[in-house]
Amino acid sequence: MIRSTCGIFKANDGRSTRGSAVSPANREDGAVERVQAIRGMNDILPDAVHWWQLVEKTAREVLELYGYREIRTPVVEKLELFARSIGESTDIVEKEMYAFPDRKGQWLALRPEATASVVRAFIEHNLQADPLARKFYTIGPMFRHERPQKGRYRQFHQIDAEVFGIDDPMLDAEVMVMLCHFLERIGLEGVGLHINSLGCPACRPSFREELKKFLHDRAAHLCPDCDRRRHVNPLRVFDCKVDRCREALVGAPQLVDHLCGACARHFEKVRGYLTGLDVPFTVDPRMVRGLDYYMRTAFEVVTDRLGAQNAVGGGGRYDGLMRDLGGPDLPGIGFAIGIERLILLLQQGQSLAAKTPDVFLAILGEQAAIEGFRVVQALRRRGIAVEVGYGGGSLKSQMRRADKLGVSHVAILGEEELQKGVIVLRNMAEKSQREVPLADMTGVLGAVIPLARDGRRQ
Ligand code: AMP
Repeated sequence: MIRSTCGIFKANDGRSTRGSAVSPANREDGAVERVQAIRGMNDILPDAVHWWQLVEKTAREVLELYGYREIRTPVVEKLELFARSIGESTDIVEKEMYAFPDRKGQWLALRPEATASVVRAFIEHNLQADPLARKFYTIGPMFRHERPQKGRYRQFHQIDAEVFGIDDPMLDAEVMVMLCHFLERIGLEGVGLHINSLGCPACRPSFREELKKFLHDRAAHLCPDCDRRRHVNPLRVFDCKVDRCREALVGAPQLVDHLCGACARHFEKVRGYLTGLDVPFTVDPRMVRGLDYYMRTAFEVVTDRLGAQNAVGGGGRYDGLMRDLGGPDLPGIGFAIGIERLILLLQQGQSLAAKTPDVFLAILGEQAAIEGFRVVQALRRRGIAVEVGYGGGSLKSQMRRADKLGVSHVAILGEEELQKGVIVLRNMAEKSQREVPLADMTGVLGAVIPLARDGRRQ
């Protein structure tokens, strides 16, 4: 099974890249070539990183409120793990995985999603034995070789949550409610919750056959990919974004109409719990999600504000996956939120002030530098963020720098102040200054900085 997957990647990647992987740093004209980041893999620069910190911090708070505990797994796994779990005829495995042989010829892959790794770790460490180990979350980079565009990258980041061993439909609803709770807490508005049921191994096969028949009659209208999919994995045709395939699907049979009694009851209860909490949702019978392991509940949080990339997060139930990966037969459910897309949406609605230092210490003279260095450390130990006029320079140039940094206060220490045992403290907003005894410096700033921070926040 795996050999065919490896074959795909070998065909793409048959050449040996060693040797040619390093291009000469110096061009013939003497200029030095710059090494650039890989397309679709982005740097997160300090100006944007506070959004990431806010998202990650809020996610941790909300997830831990619902009893989730953090797990961290490697970003590289055996290729087989993803081929067996996500499904060999999914776009992710067929076309999008970064897969490569290591130096010993073992096929590895950069993880395209987190569920398979968390399930593998659960099995490998026998976490079933630990009563606290049922709800997990992980935050980190995923890799898919898709065509980059706004909201779609080759390295992107997910907040991922997984629960094992609970098949109660209340949990399905709780997982969605938690996702909505998180989005609300972070301030994201205007997103919709779409849900569907994908049936189970008892009811899906007959639906597949009916869908196959429907697609057979419309084969001439399908794109070449879907024409192939209709034989190997007809449900995947619902994922296709090509217009003519979408048109060909008008009037297609719907999974929700073919559920067995147990799946229909499960779905009804999930909807009942959501309605009981007044969580608005839309049943979207065409949403099948791009991974094969889902069964019964599937859901997505969608937006119309990100162009083609309309899913902010999504997930579903995957009751057979743990068993299929050689573990105990425990049900599972989970979801992933894309951090880049979430931040793009948050940035449309509000701005977040970058963190700036509180105080700038301007230093004039070598003796002042020694005392100033001591003062700076004392302030930092009090929790005050200080930036220093390293290397001295004129007072004017140091004040210019302080101004650019946007500090609320500048402390000035020169030889004269040193002799008097004082420091000049300038309030930048009020444009006033006063002398403060050096010994009182940390106490005075400890009192005024929290007020200045509050003022800046308003
Ligand atoms: P999936 O694992 O495909 O269900 O994706 C879950 C979420 O991850 C999506 O709703 C997106 O927010 C995000 N995501 C998936 N693929 C990408 C990508 N290539 N670039 C950025 N975000 C992505």
